[in-house]
Amino acid sequence: MKSKLTEIALRKNKWKVENIDGMQLVFAPSLLELDFVAHAFTTRVGGNTPAPYDYFNLGGNIPGDEFRKDAHVNRSKLCDALSIKYSDLVVPGQVHSRNVELVNERSQIPDLKGVDGLVTHRSETPLLLHFADCVPVIIVDKLSKVIGIFHAGWRGTAQNIVSHGVERMVKELNANPANMVGVVGPAIGPCCYPTSDEVAQKLSETVKDAEGLVGTNGTQPAPDIKAFNALQLLESGIQEVDVSDFCTACNPSMFYSHRQSGGTTGRQGALVSLRS
Ligand SMILES: [Zn+2]
Repeated sequence: MKSKLTEIALRKNKWKVENIDGMQLVFAPSLLELDFVAHAFTTRVGGNTPAPYDYFNLGGNIPGDEFRKDAHVNRSKLCDALSIKYSDLVVPGQVHSRNVELVNERSQIPDLKGVDGLVTHRSETPLLLHFADCVPVIIVDKLSKVIGIFHAGWRGTAQNIVSHGVERMVKELNANPANMVGVVGPAIGPCCYPTSDEVAQKLSETVKDAEGLVGTNGTQPAPDIKAFNALQLLESGIQEVDVSDFCTACNPSMFYSHRQSGGTTGRQGALVSLRS
């Protein structure tokens, strides 16, 4: 028998897809209801990035000045569409850790190398992270107006980065899980994610009841890594989660996928910002 929370964690929703200035952007229904939050999940549709990173790469870690320049053009285009100032963007150097940094004073932004989560209570401080199969998670406290964004691949998920993020939002920014919504964006689904027994085991150890969260793909375990993040959010005391049904590997014309591409691909973004 699955627990009630596990059942909720396994639910997926259809998210809104909108074409804006040639970009195909995905929006979480639960965040569209909040007028003090700007957010978007990007796809590979919308720019002129050449193959094999075509067409809307936002990641800055592809070798070559041309690609870096192009990633900044694309980020700037995304910011324009969301009425966000490109120069305000905060972008960490992700490494599959559980490190979460607080972005407080703009003049004192900490060193963001090796950081996979950001939290802030500041408005006009857009936070951008990059993905190609890993799980993008955004958390918003609707009452205290605190936001967090997290990059949860299997390593980050195995280290429970999202509950670590919730803890920091509570301790340092007076947020309360009871007032939070947690959204889990497009990422690789169990349909396309066979892993080792060791990975499945490590993921399962992060939650009270993992039953139903690890399927099989022939002979290998196939964890539902979005559901693991959703359950970690629920077990942290968040009562509302909103999980996208998009599998990045099933939709190669729409999303960058590390698995599907064999490792050479671009990065889509997840962005969140508090409006003043
Ligand atoms: Zn799939």
